Amino acid sequence: MRTNLLKLFVFFFIFLTSLQCLLAFNDKPRDRFIVVLDAGHGGKDPGNMGNGFKEKDIALNIILKIGKALERKGGIEVIYTRDSDVFIPLDKRARIANEADADLFVSVHCNAHNSQAYGTETFVLGLHKTKENFEVAKKENSVIFLEEDYEVTYGGFNPNSPESYIGMALMQEEYLNQSILLADFVQKNFTNDLKRKDRGVKQAGFLVLKNAVMPSVLIETGFLTNNHEGPYLNSTGGQNKMAAAIVEAIDKYASSINLSSLENIGQVSVSNTSLENEIYDDITFKIQLAAGSKRLETKAYNFKGLQNVERSREDGLYKYYYGATSNYTKINELHKEAKQNGYPSSYIVAFKDGTKITVNDALKSK
Ligand SMILES: [Zn+2]
Repeated sequence: MRTNLLKLFVFFFIFLTSLQCLLAFNDKPRDRFIVVLDAGHGGKDPGNMGNGFKEKDIALNIILKIGKALERKGGIEVIYTRDSDVFIPLDKRARIANEADADLFVSVHCNAHNSQAYGTETFVLGLHKTKENFEVAKKENSVIFLEEDYEVTYGGFNPNSPESYIGMALMQEEYLNQSILLADFVQKNFTNDLKRKDRGVKQAGFLVLKNAVMPSVLIETGFLTNNHEGPYLNSTGGQNKMAAAIVEAIDKYASSINLSSLENIGQVSVSNTSLENEIYDDITFKIQLAAGSKRLETKAYNFKGLQNVERSREDGLYKYYYGATSNYTKINELHKEAKQNGYPSSYIVAFKDGTKITVNDALKSK
């Protein structure tokens, strides 16, 4: 009885804080971009110890390098969930991000496997479709067993029970689009710049992402258990490179999001230069409405009345696009329409010769 009351109280408290954060999120016009950097594990929780390396140290080193580089660049405010070797409960990590009213949550980890598996993968919150993804989430979530009141804190969540994961993606659903955008950038940089093996953008049920009310990703930078990747990730050179690739992805993400949020509050600077007939010959602009693992028929009734929605399968996920035009003015009108029709977190994407590029790059191409 007492535990039930306590659970109810905890639930109510979480509900109130989330509500407060949501309200704050909607109210405040943005003047700067806040990113919360989360180094996995720490303190009494070393994370995985593949090849004798320590995940908690490697994650922290990479996170600190990312933070320093972002601060040097300017324009992005950095908040750490930990900047030293301390134990931080999973739920507190999301709370730090929510309280900071952050724009982005980035968690960095290292993988482990009993084979010589290698490569990088970036996760967004969702239901895992494969046993493999479940295993990664299970491993990362099991750190709650080191927390004293984990049964209360996580409402009876059991990392090892598949049933516990059903429905946990709800809070992040709203931010899925943006989370995938960043995850895409991260994986592309790892693959193109660093020639790491691309294991893709994936979905699984990570507790650390569950209560964050902002776009959130969890990056598995590689396998410490692999005899080549382990030493690479443990080296200063490897960590510098991984950090630089993530910094570039965050930067790219922030500029593409900033463009559309500026437009939201009607202060877009390009508007002074008259947007009439802003034609970009080689570019196709589209509105990304949604992304997910579910394959939907592209009928108007599935998309709040929007006609001619297009579906494309990318990185194992279905993406749904609205509109296709080389006219930047036109796409902004369509974006407004999409938002009015119930897609507040939709955003403009750009393609050049069928390849997705950032809207910034597209606008610069003229
Ligand atoms: Zn980890």
